[in-house]
Amino acid sequence: MTDLWQAALGDLETKVSAHNFESWFKNINFHHQDATTAHLEVADEFFKAWIEENYLDLIEESLRSVSGKPIGVVIGIRGAYSGADEPLGDTPGPQPPRGIQRADAQGDMFAPEGSEEDESVPARPIDFNQLVFDAGLNPRYTFDEFVVGPSNQFTHAACVSIARNPGKNYNPLFIFGGVGLGKTHLLHAVGIEILRKRPDARIVTLSSEEFMNQLITSLRQKDMNSFRDHFRDKCDVILIDDIQFIGGKDSTQEEFFHTFNALYHSGKQIVMTSDKSPKELPGVEERLRSRFSWGLIADVQPPEMETRLAILKKKAETDGIDLADDVGLLLAISVRSNVRELEGTLVRLGAQAEFMRTPITIEMAREYLTRMNFDQSRQITVDRIIALVSEKFGITSADIKGSRRTRAISEPRQLAMFLSRKHTDHSYPELGRKFGGKDHTTVLAACRKLERLLKENDATTISKVRDIEQLLER
Ligand code: ADP
Ligand code: MG
Repeated sequence: MTDLWQAALGDLETKVSAHNFESWFKNINFHHQDATTAHLEVADEFFKAWIEENYLDLIEESLRSVSGKPIGVVIGIRGAYSGADEPLGDTPGPQPPRGIQRADAQGDMFAPEGSEEDESVPARPIDFNQLVFDAGLNPRYTFDEFVVGPSNQFTHAACVSIARNPGKNYNPLFIFGGVGLGKTHLLHAVGIEILRKRPDARIVTLSSEEFMNQLITSLRQKDMNSFRDHFRDKCDVILIDDIQFIGGKDSTQEEFFHTFNALYHSGKQIVMTSDKSPKELPGVEERLRSRFSWGLIADVQPPEMETRLAILKKKAETDGIDLADDVGLLLAISVRSNVRELEGTLVRLGAQAEFMRTPITIEMAREYLTRMNFDQSRQITVDRIIALVSEKFGITSADIKGSRRTRAISEPRQLAMFLSRKHTDHSYPELGRKFGGKDHTTVLAACRKLERLLKENDATTISKVRDIEQLLER
């Protein structure tokens, strides 16, 4: 690695969150550099698309600031230059994950080496559901049923990549985040997708508590061999939910440590979920904690407004619930904490409506939300401003929070920054963070610019500001 890249990394580390730095920048290799361009390498197409979409500007900015001259960046796939590493040949170039989109995992998973596309997918056995069930998987938790938005995009993409190529790129995958945010759903989706392409894959799905219970039973029955057999030898993919419960249980950790090593070293895919990042897991031995961080760590965040609305619409469609736009919007505005709660609200209202043989009315929804103590006030928050502005300009919240600087994005972004400063109590640095980790000077500059335009009576600016403010008051 050259000093230049090392210096740029040092600069980048101060500009992005520690977690993003660990997940992304540490996994970029410097390959070589010519007069104008730095050539970097990453593990696969998904990684490349993500970096290009989200961090290219930032990387170029850092390179410029440490070298004092403009340096372009080209990102390649690891092994593509030298041909030394295993080629990731048949992975088709993915769409960079952007905005709200339906998770669509059909099509290109697991194309075995040498084969073109999907032709070789084995005919789905008649008892596919049985297969899913036997593997301990919930058949509802598919990629198809998962709504992708900025809050879970990264983790979703990592899961798809793993289902495509288990044991290859990201091992282990460690997913963490608060309750009801889709961790278990994604974990199972990986298993189901692998089975879809390889019905003979041996998938073991369990929680860390189940692991512990089975361990205790085997110890009691003095049958450790079949326990080890089950987990170490008769398993291709292990999916462990809620690994945090392993904390403080020493003998479980000891056994899990050996299981982990055996699976890892034979190239078996390990996916874990947890409510905390490996660093924050209480009562977990250091050697396990460090192993949890060997592969990729991915978090899920509470969904943004747009994603909540998309989830509601999707669930309503799946469950055959008639959901009017205004009701959907009210629910998405009011139920913010997690998806499980959002889903629960819809299901309960749906049942009530069915019972009364009406669609869900806005009154019914309001009454329910009041009873359940959900805050329906249309508080002016930065997220709401961002949602409104992006909707108005036909872009996404992720665009506003991202780093692309085309006019179509930077103008709405500046407007949203100005309105956020005007209508909320956040400081410039706080706003910078809420706008995707930007510097406070960026926010300050945006506010100054809008103030100046308003002072100059710039008609377009005045009308844009007024339009959004009217929506905010509603
Ligand atoms: P966790 O394991 O993080 O506590 P779950 O995976 O159990 O959360 O998710 C809670 C519920 O919300 C499940 O019914 C799941 O299907 C649903 N859910 C969570 N995130 C999404 C999403 N992005 N799209 C669709 N459904 C989701
Ligand atoms: Mg869970």
